[in-house]
Amino acid sequence: MRVYNFAAGPAALPLEVLEEARDELLDWNHDGTSVMEISHRSKAFMRVAAQAEADLRELLAIPDTYKVLFLQGGASAQFSAVPMNLTAPGATVDFIDTGHWSKKAMQEAQRHCRVHVAGDAGGAYTSVPAQSQLAFSGAAQYLHYTPNETIGGVEFGYVPQAGVPLVADMSSNILSRPLDVTQFGLIYAGAQKNIGPAGLTIVIVREDLIGRARPGTPTVFEYRAVAAAGSMLNTPPTFSWYMAGLVFKWLKARGGLAAIAERNRLKAEKLYAAIDGSSLYRNTVAADARSRMNVTFQLTRPQLDTEFLRQADAAGLKNLQGHRIAGGMRASIYNAMPIDGVAALIEFMRYFERERA
Ligand code: PMP
Repeated sequence: MRVYNFAAGPAALPLEVLEEARDELLDWNHDGTSVMEISHRSKAFMRVAAQAEADLRELLAIPDTYKVLFLQGGASAQFSAVPMNLTAPGATVDFIDTGHWSKKAMQEAQRHCRVHVAGDAGGAYTSVPAQSQLAFSGAAQYLHYTPNETIGGVEFGYVPQAGVPLVADMSSNILSRPLDVTQFGLIYAGAQKNIGPAGLTIVIVREDLIGRARPGTPTVFEYRAVAAAGSMLNTPPTFSWYMAGLVFKWLKARGGLAAIAERNRLKAEKLYAAIDGSSLYRNTVAADARSRMNVTFQLTRPQLDTEFLRQADAAGLKNLQGHRIAGGMRASIYNAMPIDGVAALIEFMRYFERERA
């Protein structure tokens, strides 16, 4: 039996994608092998890889002036790969600090660059600074921000303008809505939320920003070398790449990003309305910064947390516990979460509140 899985990542994948992968797991492409068992340099796999890139380019309307790289190491590897590729020693980079992942990225960048905090959320991590509140260093090679903070459930409703290349960690909201890629110098994302299984990291980078990596940058993270090798300098995570391709195909078949964005808006709206309309649940994120992907909420009677999670789990609503550093609850409702899953969660929340009134 499939449950509704609200995990933050690795997260639920579309059922149709899993079924397709299952159906061809043992005998892929009528070759009598699994796609996992073939060479990444075989013609058959090269077709899979090229098609996945073409579909991602189509979904996000990525211009030809951008490279799309399929890497390993997770988004965390990009925390250092970005400064190593984009800056020289002694350079300054600007950061917007809106939560746990901004901070992690910043701490790693500090090993390579001077970091200037151009804006933050005032400590509480329940809002994002407005464009007018941002104070840039004026000397930065780029501005880094985290459009969606997975742990706090805080999402930017605007794209910051900085006058320098914009670098965005889109690990938890890529492909959730249409995007104007030309506003960004570099976008990176770990796959394990909206793209596919863990093991794959996607980097979309404007061509003119690459080719100036610091000496000492590991070759497997050097963007120009990776791009020149078609992301096959060494063995890529072939199964994750194949799965990402199935997810891209699934998204296209469902109307692309405009259609999925509308479903995501509806799901989040319904869930926040249920939270706001109750006296047992609350969300403290500023209205214009509420994430459409990670909906955090607390019980006003935290002594009921354990019972809430136990009963939700028994009802097939899994992994609602908030991140260990945040506490409370978190419902991650990425692209693969159907509207019915959100409706079932709301129904359970209302039932639980009535029972405990
Ligand atoms: N950035 C964000 C926004 C994330 O949500 C995560 C993982 N949850 C990371 C970075 C780290 O990703 P990885 O585990 O792939 O290194």
